This record gives sequence, structure tokens and C-alpha cells, in this order.
Amino acid sequence: MRHFPVFVNLDGRRVIVSGAGETAVAKLRLLLKTEARIAVFGENAVLQVRQWAAEGSIVLTERPIAVGDALCAALLYAANDDPAEDARAARIGREAGALVNIVDNLDDSQFITPAIVDRDPVTVAIGTEGAAPVLARKIKADLEERLPASLGVLTRIGQAFRARAEMLGDSRKRRAFWTKFYFGAGDRALKAGGEAAVRQTLETLLTDEIERRDGPGSVVFVGAGPGDPELLTLKARNALHEADVVLHDRLVPQPILELARREAIIVETGKKGFGPAWTQDAINALMIEHAGAGARVVRLKSGDPAVFGRLEEELDALDEAGITFEIVPGITSASAAVASIGRSLTRRGRNASLRIITGHDAEGFADHDWRALARPGEAAAIYMGLKASAFLRGRLLMHGADAETPVTVVENASRADQRIVAATLGDLPETLADASITGPAVLLYGIAPRGAQVAVDALPARAEAV
Ligand code: SAH
Repeated sequence: MRHFPVFVNLDGRRVIVSGAGETAVAKLRLLLKTEARIAVFGENAVLQVRQWAAEGSIVLTERPIAVGDALCAALLYAANDDPAEDARAARIGREAGALVNIVDNLDDSQFITPAIVDRDPVTVAIGTEGAAPVLARKIKADLEERLPASLGVLTRIGQAFRARAEMLGDSRKRRAFWTKFYFGAGDRALKAGGEAAVRQTLETLLTDEIERRDGPGSVVFVGAGPGDPELLTLKARNALHEADVVLHDRLVPQPILELARREAIIVETGKKGFGPAWTQDAINALMIEHAGAGARVVRLKSGDPAVFGRLEEELDALDEAGITFEIVPGITSASAAVASIGRSLTRRGRNASLRIITGHDAEGFADHDWRALARPGEAAAIYMGLKASAFLRGRLLMHGADAETPVTVVENASRADQRIVAATLGDLPETLADASITGPAVLLYGIAPRGAQVAVDALPARAEAV
């Protein structure tokens, strides 16, 4: 980040604009939103600049800027449309200690003016370091559409009410109060009865919140999906947004955790490999402790919480403690993995069923009905199967499986570092070793990638034949 965003208080500060033409007008329009004392220097002032000067909004001096003009100025804009004159103005500004912006000259500017979405007192500033003005405009347009025009009015009225809302004391109650106001009640009141109705609504909401008794907390089990934040459900996003506490798996990536509120307590209850870093009892206890104290807890699990997520063990613990829960399903990694190879998990005439199995369980490598799985036309999504790959091959071959059965390995499904490795049962452990697969991976047993449509450049030589 080369340009650090700050909001400068310009109340009563001097701001200088060198230039009085159309380029200056564009900057002046923005500056006039502030309470700065604006001085414009330049010849041939356009009509708009003259008008502002006549109204007393700016002070216009109809000559080029000179040494001494920028004394005590906070900012100086060089907006002459003339590189030589801009450079001269910039020098005068810098020597006077002002921060200098030369319009359309990023390199020689000390600061830049972002694209702005104005819902005063809510202001959104968008900058791209000059790299993509088109992008900034698009983001601005999107935000203009999404932030209701009423937001400014509501915020201003809300701001004046902040001291009254302090009487709610408890921060959770305060948050509930403001959430209701900004996301629904405030806007409805404004439309129905203008600003007076908004003030009345604040009083009503405050009384409601004072009288509302805090219920016990609860736990929402949320599927975070395989890693791509866009694969979260809306329910998952909302639950994250409302959570007081987030207890998450090691596999949940940072961009998803960032969707939680800034004040939320976030705890990783990670387990690495075979050995749990956190015991299940400790996780249960933490969940119960927070929910028992009234918090909204999100138990965030990778993929779908109902697939190898110890969900029911945790539900049992909550039942025992008398704590209510909700389950928000997520996209399991097998779904993301099969999507990445252009296949489906079931297909008429190929496999009418799919087993979801794990390579290892609490006791070590997991045992399954190998005889049934070894029959032609069977398919399985194997989770946690990397370490068990030699064991899997041994068991399946021993029970008569064809060594040519395809096994497609999808590592980091849906993430930027996703890799697809096509193997066969016969060469599975060697192919995995060649490809050095280390991230979380699903083995799709009996399902080959959709040949031509899959990017195979990352595949090791022995796998390309599949
Ligand atoms: N509840 C999760 C599974 C948790 S068990 C789900 O529904 O997906 C952990 C295993 O999930 C990993 O060992 C790996 O086999 C699989 N897994 C999780 N995220 C993955 C991803 N992005 N790509 C491939 N496999 C993944």
C-alpha cells in the first residue's frame, strides 16, 4: 500500500487550488463539501469559479500563485492543466509545508483524492493507487446502488442519539439496538413519516431493548464450504456477521474468517493430522461456556459440518447442557472436488451410488466393506485419505479391485492453489508422492477427470495417461 487512507479534518483549514479552469472546478466541487477555507489562484477563471467567489464560498485571486500564497495551507491542488505551471505551484506548496496533489500526475503527488461515495457522515473512499480508475468507478457505482440514500440522514439522527443509547450499558444490547435501527426500522420510519418518525422509532426501539430480557445464547453450526468464500451460503454469511464468538476448524481460510465482525472473539480449535491439538471435551466446554454466558456462538467447520465434522458429538454435549442449536449446511469438499474435474458424483450407468468414506478414524486407518467397494462400477469420495493411500490400495486390490480403476485426487478444492492429479488405484501412493500433495485432498475413487476439459499441465507424467 503506497497511499495510506486517512480522513483529514479540514474544518477551518486553508486549502489552496492553483488554477481556475474546468480541472479546478472538478476538485472544488469536492472541496466545497468540507468546511475548509478555500483560496483559488489563477487567471481566466471560468464562470463557475466566479460564481463561487461571488457567493463567498471561495476566495479567488485572479493571478498565478506566488511564493507566500500557500502559507499555513493544509493541502494544495495544482490544477492548471499545464505541467510547467503545475510544477511551479507544487513547489510553492511543498515549500510552505502543505501536502501537494498535482491533478493527473500520480508520481509527483504527495496525496491523491479517492473516488468518494457520499452519505455524509458515512463516507466511502475508494482508491486503486491509480492502477485502475475504471475499477474504482465500477466499485463506486455498485456502492452508490447498495447504500440507500437515506443512510446519511439515518446516521446523522443516529449520531445525535448515541449518548442516549449508552444507557443500554451492555454492548450486546447496544449492538442489537443499532442493528435494528440501521437495517430496517430506521429506513421504514423515514419513508413513512420523515425525520420526526425516525426519532420516535429510536425511542421505541430503546424502550423495547431496555425491557427485553437477555435470552440464553445459542450455537450455530456453520458449513464454511471447501475454502472459496463465494461458496458460502447466505445463511453462513449472516451467521458469521452476527456471531459474538467464532470457534473454527484449522481448515477454514482467513478470507472467510474476515467475514466475522471485528469485535467477535475468534478461536481456532484446530486439529493437526492424527493427533488432536484440542480435545473434543475442551471444544465442547468452550462452546458451552460462551453460549451459557449468552453469546451467539458460530461453530465454523470446513465443508459441511455433517460430513466428518464430529457434529453429533457436539450436538449431544449441547443437548446435555440445555443449549439450543441450529445447523447451516455447507458445500462438502467432495462436491467441490468433482465440480473441478467436470464430473458428477453419480451418473446413470456408471455409479448409482457413492460412498463417503474416511481414510482414517479415531483408531488409525479406517476399515470398510472393501469387498463391496472393490466391485466394478463402485465409487467413493475418500476424505483424509492421503496417509492411508497405500493401505487403501492394498485392501482394495486384495478384494479384487481392478488396478486400472481411476482415482482422481483434488487438493485444495475450490481454492486458488487447487491441484488435480489423475491416478489409478495401482499407482496411487507413488503418484501422490510424485506430486507432493500436502494440502487437504479428496480422493475420488472410480471417477476420472473429464479428459480434455481439465487443465492437465500440473499433472505428473505417469498420471497423464488417464
Ligand atoms: N466437513 C468437511 C470434511 C472435514 S474432514 C467437508 O465436508 O468437506 C477433513 C478432510 O476434508 C480433509 O482431510 C480433506 O480430505 C477434506 N477437505 C477439506 N477441505 C478440502 C478442500 N478444500 N479440498 C479437498 N479436500 C478437502
